[in-house]
Amino acid sequence: MTTKILSMQLIKKLSLIKKILSSLRSKGRSIGFVPTMGYLHDGHLSLCRQSVKDNDITVMSVFVNSKQFAPDEDFKKYPRDIRRDLSLARKCGVDFVFYPDNDEVYTKDHLTYVEVESLSKILCGRTRPGHFKGVATIVLKLLNIIQPDIFYLGQKDYQQYVVINKMIKDLNLPVRLKLMPIVRETSGLAMSSRNSYLSKENREKASIIYRALQKARILVKLNEFKPTEMKDFIVDTVAKKMQVEYVEILDLSSLQPVNKITGRVLIAVAARIAGVRLIDNVII
Ligand code: AMP
Repeated sequence: MTTKILSMQLIKKLSLIKKILSSLRSKGRSIGFVPTMGYLHDGHLSLCRQSVKDNDITVMSVFVNSKQFAPDEDFKKYPRDIRRDLSLARKCGVDFVFYPDNDEVYTKDHLTYVEVESLSKILCGRTRPGHFKGVATIVLKLLNIIQPDIFYLGQKDYQQYVVINKMIKDLNLPVRLKLMPIVRETSGLAMSSRNSYLSKENREKASIIYRALQKARILVKLNEFKPTEMKDFIVDTVAKKMQVEYVEILDLSSLQPVNKITGRVLIAVAARIAGVRLIDNVII
């Protein structure tokens, strides 16, 4: 590790971040990258801390990507607080916050998109058509701008991880991807910027997802369960407090349903409370 640069810098211009990083790269500095939509919580910060540990330079982006929201979704009201984000990022040792305007990222004549075909259509892709196309496109654009050695994604968005990992392999992208564990509130609820939409009471209720997943983990250790039985158990538990969108028990890389719970599997849940859609998962 070389010495760190003195203070964090906020950069809005694409040409400037490229210039600075190109100069640092030519001096042999390694670059870690954490893409976010801001309104930071400890989940985001755990990714930043890991990047600071692994790399000479850490870049975090804050960009609410309009292209991954459907017209009826919460793009406009998505929580934003860049001043707070900057203060949290600085405390974690982030070197550069890339905070571009929409026009800086998407020119008016933007026509090109990346689609990771079947993986984008299942699970969250079913109720959020176009979501992963928007995600893959912005991640590829940001990877081309930042050109990191390693970039960091959280397990909370596990399908996003699988989609991006496939894009990296299929398009031979020269970057390493590290998946980081889910950070939770004390109640067990997975941290999410969208938790800020919920009342205290509903946040508590929403922790039912994690409690159901924890019970499932214990049950799997005690007994042989068929995936259908396990799914029914989780659906019934979560449905006591929330509207369940899906519960699936899946192969870790193909995201296809398993017919037997053996080896490591992913249990993924999406559910709504007070109109807020939350996702969570465990690997067992
Ligand atoms: P977002 O700002 O929601 O797009 O998230 C940016 C990154 O932070 C993504 O890689 C997420 O998976 C990750 N992330 C979000 N919530 C958590 C969490 N609770 N624990 C760990 N990583 C998270």
